[in-house]
Amino acid sequence: MGRIKEIFGANVFNKNEMKKRLPENVYSAMINTIEKRTPFDTSMADTVAEAMMDWATSLGCTHYSHWFMPLSSVTAEKHDSFLAFSEEKAIEKFSGKALIKNEVDASSFPSGSVRGTFNARGYSIWDPTSYAFVRGHCLYVPACMVSYKGQALDRKTPLLRSIEALSREGIRILRLCGNKDAREIRTTVGPEQEYFLIKKEYYLKRPDLMFTGRTLIGAKPTKGQELDDTYFAPIPNAINDYLDDVNENLWKLGINAMTEHREAAPCQFELSPIFSTANISNDTNTLAMQVMRDVADKHGFVCLFHEKPFAGLNGSGKHNNWSMETDLGENLLSPTKTPFENTQFLLFLAAAVHAVGRYSELMRYSVASAGNDFRLGALEAPPAIVSVYLGDELTAVVDAIVNDKTFVRKHRNILSVGVPAIPEIRQDNTDRNRTSPFAFTGNKFEFRMSSSSQSIAEPNIVLNTIMAEVLAEFADRLEGQDDFEKSARALIKEIFTYEKDHIIFNGNGYTKEWQKEAARRGLPNLRTTPDAIEIYDKPEYVALFEKHGVLSAEEISIRKEVSYNNYSSVILIEAKTLSRMVTRQIIPAVLDSLKLFDSSTDCAKKAHKKITDLLEMLDVANDKLSKTISDASGKSDRSKAVFCRDSVKAAMDNVRKTVDELETVTPEQFWPFPSYSDMLLKN
Ligand code: ADP
Ligand code: MG
Repeated sequence: MGRIKEIFGANVFNKNEMKKRLPENVYSAMINTIEKRTPFDTSMADTVAEAMMDWATSLGCTHYSHWFMPLSSVTAEKHDSFLAFSEEKAIEKFSGKALIKNEVDASSFPSGSVRGTFNARGYSIWDPTSYAFVRGHCLYVPACMVSYKGQALDRKTPLLRSIEALSREGIRILRLCGNKDAREIRTTVGPEQEYFLIKKEYYLKRPDLMFTGRTLIGAKPTKGQELDDTYFAPIPNAINDYLDDVNENLWKLGINAMTEHREAAPCQFELSPIFSTANISNDTNTLAMQVMRDVADKHGFVCLFHEKPFAGLNGSGKHNNWSMETDLGENLLSPTKTPFENTQFLLFLAAAVHAVGRYSELMRYSVASAGNDFRLGALEAPPAIVSVYLGDELTAVVDAIVNDKTFVRKHRNILSVGVPAIPEIRQDNTDRNRTSPFAFTGNKFEFRMSSSSQSIAEPNIVLNTIMAEVLAEFADRLEGQDDFEKSARALIKEIFTYEKDHIIFNGNGYTKEWQKEAARRGLPNLRTTPDAIEIYDKPEYVALFEKHGVLSAEEISIRKEVSYNNYSSVILIEAKTLSRMVTRQIIPAVLDSLKLFDSSTDCAKKAHKKITDLLEMLDVANDKLSKTISDASGKSDRSKAVFCRDSVKAAMDNVRKTVDELETVTPEQFWPFPSYSDMLLKN
């Protein structure tokens, strides 16, 4: 590997490369589109395409592809070669038309029943604001994906629309605050990606991991995370080699890989970037996940992004750090030295708090998945109840505002460890609260419910849109007031007075008392994914998304249907996988093991009985599971999802309980799968 500064961005068609390869006028048109999001003059597309192709072929590329994010969990690509002919001679060609638009069979992607296969035409359309990149022999061009009528069938399109909405409404507030220079507001996002790495040889022996991404069975290992000895622990050599390779690949792709460390569970890790704007963060996080998977394969590992690959151990999340900044670089959630006096900061803060307070159901929806249901509400991740944590300092600011007092900033304490040679440090103004779903962390909010496998598009679409709405309401109220400062302070006070006993909660979110208190406050508690999906198209939410041009009613109904279908499919695939593992592997293997116990000693008899009793129970439980699987097939949408949640999952749990007990009494050489100890402790 070269030095970071030499390899960074080598595989992206970035501004440097554009400057080298594009005529001056085309270059500045591209820069305008990237930086100011002004429409790109498509008459220049041929020139851009040719320059991209020249650059890509110089890196060994033979093909190009649009790269987009359908509503499934993976990205989509279809390669076309640069091959063309001129007077029977092979040449290389990439036209502006091919750069901009590609036709896709939209009905083969998740698109709900709104669209039949008879009207399947759809398009992928170039996103010039996100750099094209090279991997292997292909030039990838980030793209949106829409139906023939222009309905978004992907994650990027509504994300881009939500970014525009927030900017549009936020600028109104900035103008009121006297800022005449900022032209736009950018959403900034830094996703902290958690994942597990296990050896591929084990993975290939576990149908559950291969087909569902998580273990459906597995007795607890004798050592889990009781000793807290993996968090930030030294990174094993083989993993360091893997990370070297991952980082090199990410940096070459212009991805800001920054922090790497071990996490709370054995074999669990985190990788986080330096934040970027939301669209770029979404693209690069998605791409980083692909790179992490592919590189793992080369190193004999498998990278698991599932939210709960191993029962009884920590699951994986993807904290979504979120803020807003102007195009001049001012972070709008920075409290500055004088938060109490800073009306602009307080307006944006109040808007964020109020947005989450009013639309907490949508926030919950944005992170709903079968996998994430294992995390939310378990004692390792925030509960399914959304609340906001402000920390000591801002809570004191809010209290002062609500009670008409003035806020005096506390001196930051000096902290000394009591040894002269060790430097003294300044304490932060607030401690952290790890149990809060939406926590203020210095100059940004950290949305902690988002999950490891999901695209960060969904939570950011919701965050941006609800923020746009509240900023719009603030602007409607404040524009035209004679005394802006006075009206703004009154508004801020009104919002905080309400939210202080509503969405703001600084205590421990893991406790039973909070569940009760939250219910008293009227905060929604959407425990499972089907509950969260159900609220998505409430009239007030449809009106919200339509008002800001983020999603139409039809697009919402497509997405709702896809969500239900995805949820049920995930659970049914798990159920079928489990049932087959039991029938074809576990029962035969355990029956085989019984031959060890046919002597006449008491101990052999005892073991024989224990195992045969469990086998009988398992057989009954597995029959029940098969029956619920077939019962599910007649249902659809919500009723299917609810049935999967209430009946299929219960039948699976029942099977698992018996299987896990059997595992602990079956002689090791007969057990047909690598155990938790094999996968997690012998890595
Ligand atoms: P913390 O200690 O609060 O977890 P880190 O410095 O580890 O903060 O940052 C966590 C993530 O938040 C990183 O990806 C970082 O780049 C990102 N981040 C920092 N500032 C911002 C911001 N203004 N907007 C969005 N993300 C940010
Ligand atoms: Mg962090």
